[in-house]
Amino acid sequence: MNRNNFYQKDIETLSRKDIDALQLERLKWVVSYCYENVPYYRQKLDGAGVKPEKIRQLSDIQYIPFTTKEDIRDTYPFGLFAQPMKKIVRIHASSGTTGKPTVVGYTRKDLDTWSDVVARLCVAAGATDEDIVQISFGYGLFTGALGLHYGLEKIGATVIPISSGNTEKQVMIMKDFGTTTLVSTPSYALYIGEVAREMGVDIHLQLGLLGSEGHTEEMREEVEAALGFFATDNYGMSELIGPGVSGECRLRCGLHFAEDHFLPEIIDSKTGERLEAGETGELVITTLTKEGFPMLRYRTKDITRLNYEPCACGRTHVRMDKVKGRSDDMLKIRGVNVFPTQIESVLMGIPHIGPHYQLIVTREGYMDALEVKVELTDADLLEHYPELKALQNDVHHRLKTVLGIESKVSLVEPKFLERFQGKAKRVVDLRNSKEAK
Ligand SMILES: [Zn+2]
Repeated sequence: MNRNNFYQKDIETLSRKDIDALQLERLKWVVSYCYENVPYYRQKLDGAGVKPEKIRQLSDIQYIPFTTKEDIRDTYPFGLFAQPMKKIVRIHASSGTTGKPTVVGYTRKDLDTWSDVVARLCVAAGATDEDIVQISFGYGLFTGALGLHYGLEKIGATVIPISSGNTEKQVMIMKDFGTTTLVSTPSYALYIGEVAREMGVDIHLQLGLLGSEGHTEEMREEVEAALGFFATDNYGMSELIGPGVSGECRLRCGLHFAEDHFLPEIIDSKTGERLEAGETGELVITTLTKEGFPMLRYRTKDITRLNYEPCACGRTHVRMDKVKGRSDDMLKIRGVNVFPTQIESVLMGIPHIGPHYQLIVTREGYMDALEVKVELTDADLLEHYPELKALQNDVHHRLKTVLGIESKVSLVEPKFLERFQGKAKRVVDLRNSKEAK
């Protein structure tokens, strides 16, 4: 099987001059499109004194105000949609800071674009029409599973939409169906590998399309060793399209953007100023072709660096380094975004629970685990087991409803947790201590 192919070679190997020209034409289009179709954008652009005609060269993008997660929250659910519902054929959503999800919509053309950009990164990673691909991301409102699903079908791969969970069945199908490629988070891939070993089943994977969870090179090596495949990383977020924004080629020296659809910039996350090519800062992305949910200068809060040198693979589109971290305190647990403020707002609404809590994130085996330790207001409750158990179940259930993931709830006696003189450190993330070694 030849794993060194291109999906859209003419576009993927455009000269920098041609990429710039295409981006400028599309940037002009999207700015006037937003101005005409989204009152919220028009108001922001007017507030900044920017008419669409002001965009004459690519660097003029600097005059356009940023769009943030808060803007999306303020316009919940459909305020940033640029087309009427009649034209929207798909909706996805991801968790937000206040318990309300971030909602995004796609026109039919957006879905075509989406499957194209995903197909492109899958082929760059080495996937072909001979692959049998098991998609072990959870299907649903989350963009990961369906994003990869349609992109892989587009290249003619055989897709098994197994979703996440039921790991023994994953292993059985992997063996019986002759799965060659796995789509999953790195942590779930490791867990599948572990279960396969426990079951004594030999699996013969060749390729891992890992995503939806940041991971170090060291972690990738562990995953590759455990699963016996070659793994690539890809990047995206639902606000921008889902997976498909950028992805690694076989050389794995940065993630190639789909620059004909996304225009990346790097800014200083404190001042908002644009940084020079090659400098590390916050990634800001403008969608150049999206119709349903266009984004002007969206602040991803992800910290990375852009490399404009052509890659030895032949692709000319700019590469980003693997994401180094987040400029805020969001936790990513089993591929799901979790904000400490979400947990706090749940806890604070429950009787018998005090304002002192601690979030402990660990990796059990290879799966992320979240423990929520919270103090009771009354130590007497510890003597009444049925009530204590009922309270614990209540907290667990409410957290699961808001976060969408399991957590372990530990109710502790009053004054058990550390107190702080200054800024509280409520999150203890123990996952990196192992990876950093
Ligand atoms: Zn490359």
